[in-house]
Amino acid sequence: MKNIYSNIYSFSKKTLKKTVKSLKQGNLVGLPTETVYGLAGNAYSNHAVKKIFKLKKRPKRNPLIVHYCNLNDAQRDVLLNKNFFKLYKKFCPGPLTFVLKKAVNSKLNPLVTANLNTVAIRFPKHKATKLILKSINFPLAMPSANLSSRLSPVQALDVLEDFQNNLKIIIDGGKSKIGIESTVVDLTGYPKILRPGLVSSVEIKKVLGVNLSKKKSKIKSPGMLKKHYSPGIPIIMGRKPKNQEDAFIVFGKKYKKNKHYFNLSKNADLKEAGSNLYKIMRKIKNKGYKRIFVEKIPNKDLGLAINDRLSRASK
Ligand code: AMP
Ligand code: MG
Repeated sequence: MKNIYSNIYSFSKKTLKKTVKSLKQGNLVGLPTETVYGLAGNAYSNHAVKKIFKLKKRPKRNPLIVHYCNLNDAQRDVLLNKNFFKLYKKFCPGPLTFVLKKAVNSKLNPLVTANLNTVAIRFPKHKATKLILKSINFPLAMPSANLSSRLSPVQALDVLEDFQNNLKIIIDGGKSKIGIESTVVDLTGYPKILRPGLVSSVEIKKVLGVNLSKKKSKIKSPGMLKKHYSPGIPIIMGRKPKNQEDAFIVFGKKYKKNKHYFNLSKNADLKEAGSNLYKIMRKIKNKGYKRIFVEKIPNKDLGLAINDRLSRASK
């Protein structure tokens, strides 16, 4: 069924068919996942992958995550190893992305991996996107559905805000449950976290039974260094605002109601804070604030991922 916006659809048998047809034709669609919404296209198609980079204005050196619905499909394109199987069993489908070596016979378009010999893969959990993946015979390259360096989308309307009518289909799958991008773990050598997320390094370490590498490797993920996840206005971390024209992102009970204060979680719950992060930053931007100050957020558990995104947004 169509929403009042001509390109936002709720998920049904009919929209599944329409989405699959569109993907097979090489078009891009906006899809819900449990982390953030994705901009999806056929990862084997040069035409579709090129369009992803163009529409997002994403630098070509920033590789895309490839999404699969099962192991059989994934092993056509990547070399699955022991550490992968341990983590897959525990966390998949879910918010964990694995960097693995590319298989010799992989049909992935070279642009997807920015010509690297490694591939980032994920198995998303959202029902709609899983069903779509099941109904096609190619994996989906799917970065977050926002213009490069901007805020990640956590609902269908956020996707519309960045792409308007340039996307013919956006599937409305409700608000993304986790609301923050997947953890990225590099398993091509000694296991190493490249991007923090809901699945923590402590959990990964426990499953693998080894310490994770802290080595500053040569830049494996070019896209991870730059300014990213930004609302487009200055963010000042760990400080209170000086005047009334600034927005203040806070965390926990101790703050009284104030129209310029935006609480990530009154209960001081980091998971709730993570799921509110992009929603609140988008709200602040849309209200026309010129600056965002952010209170110190505990740097543990999901707080690590929240601080990572905030600090990159503040660059
Ligand atoms: P996004 O799709 O915007 O959530 O970002 C995906 C991130 O995954 C990129 O910024 C890369 O840093 C990382 N990534 C994707 N492919 C690879 C790869 N082959 N090696 C290392 N990191 C990767
Ligand atoms: Mg992104």
